[in-house]
Amino acid sequence: MASYDVVIVGGAIVGSAVAYHLRQGGFGGTIALIERDPSFAHSATTLSMASIRQQFSIRENIHLSQYTLGLFRRLREEFGAEADIGFREGGYLILATEDGLPVLSANHRTQVAEGADVVLEAPEALERRFPWLSVEGIAGGVYGVSGEGWFDAHALLGLFRKALKTMNVDLIAGSVGAISRDGTRVTGVTLDDGRALTAGVVVNAAGPNAGKVAAMAGLALPVEPRKRTVFVFEARERYVDMPLLVDPTGVYVRPEGSVYLTGGAEPDEGDGPADPADFEPRWDLFEEVIWPTLAMRVPAFEAIKATRAWAGHYDYNTLDQNAVIGPHPEVANFLFANGFSGHGLQQAPAVGKAIAELIVHGAYRTIDCSAFGYERVAEGRAFRELNVI
Ligand SMILES: Cc1cc2nc3c(=O)[nH]c(=O)nc-3n(C[C@H](O)[C@H](O)[C@H](O)COP(=O)(O)OP(=O)(O)OC[C@H]3O[C@@H](n4cnc5c(N)ncnc54)[C@H](O)[C@@H]3O)c2cc1C
Repeated sequence: MASYDVVIVGGAIVGSAVAYHLRQGGFGGTIALIERDPSFAHSATTLSMASIRQQFSIRENIHLSQYTLGLFRRLREEFGAEADIGFREGGYLILATEDGLPVLSANHRTQVAEGADVVLEAPEALERRFPWLSVEGIAGGVYGVSGEGWFDAHALLGLFRKALKTMNVDLIAGSVGAISRDGTRVTGVTLDDGRALTAGVVVNAAGPNAGKVAAMAGLALPVEPRKRTVFVFEARERYVDMPLLVDPTGVYVRPEGSVYLTGGAEPDEGDGPADPADFEPRWDLFEEVIWPTLAMRVPAFEAIKATRAWAGHYDYNTLDQNAVIGPHPEVANFLFANGFSGHGLQQAPAVGKAIAELIVHGAYRTIDCSAFGYERVAEGRAFRELNVI
């Protein structure tokens, strides 16, 4: 039986970032990074909108994104002269109606207090800044002047995975089907093909499947897959200055090269766990929700048509749509890095660093993630992020 100091379940962005930061932090023990689908065809990482923002409602989430932003800015120092993730600092623009303005303003104050380069503007100023925008029904908007935008998720994952190949990390292709436990300690994992590995520490980096992986260790984690559809459309007009625009309805749109990406139309009502095998786009949402919303918000989008769509699964934390990070209070060698609920790609490098510090030093040093601890899950106490896009 192979024996590892650290076994990481899930090898996409979160799992890879944990392994990477372990080695960067000087961890000399053995590491197994286990991934059931090394093509990552269905991982949230590769099916995401690949965007990063400062516009969160709680400062702990801002700190995580700021760490990742710092990594983006020193990408070549970290990963070499050729490293490029196509980071385009186009900003977010989050719009609010009169009803939503107090929350938008409070969020903006929090963001500014944490050093985010974001401005709250009245409708007239927004119209001047973005002449293609209709501010009908809008009372204000927050625009990220710098530090927000989008990038290539495949490229980011590729940088971590490539680096791991030279870092003495065992990249294992296989599906974890069982986790063994002896009282207050997990002791190892068994793969579906029968291979068994002993583990000093197990890290759950299984994305939307994290609830199931926790259950293998007899632990409850309120994380489930929720299907989200992203549409691609073309338009005659090319607005190169368009940020990632979020309408008060939740519908978002941003440019991607010569096309646009849009989504965010899933209604709260009826939103529930997805069949893990269901990646069928919900085309009805484009006609019924997205197109009318976009045509109203950006009049030039009256004549658009979706050309392509894909669906991915959010790693949705049903308690409070926020990450669960750190050890289980009773099973201390089982670590969570889960439940990011739609903002985990931008948080992954930071969370990888934090989890690595916990393993190496027994405490957080760079980013304090204790507010994301499992204790709140055990107590049923929500630590709610209001800006879930
Ligand atoms: C449509 C969409 C848009 C999004 N947009 C953004 C965005 O703009 N910005 C942002 O920051 N985030 C965004 N997200 C969220 C983000 O993609 C996720 O939070 C993040 O990728 C989670 O990373 P992960 O590594 O934990 O999960 P994943 O990328 O899902 O990786 C988990 C991996 O674990 C593997 N695995 C699972 N179970 C097992 C097992 N039993 N054995 C072995 N391997 C296993 C899976 O195969 C998978 O590769 C979006 C998500 C979606 C779906």
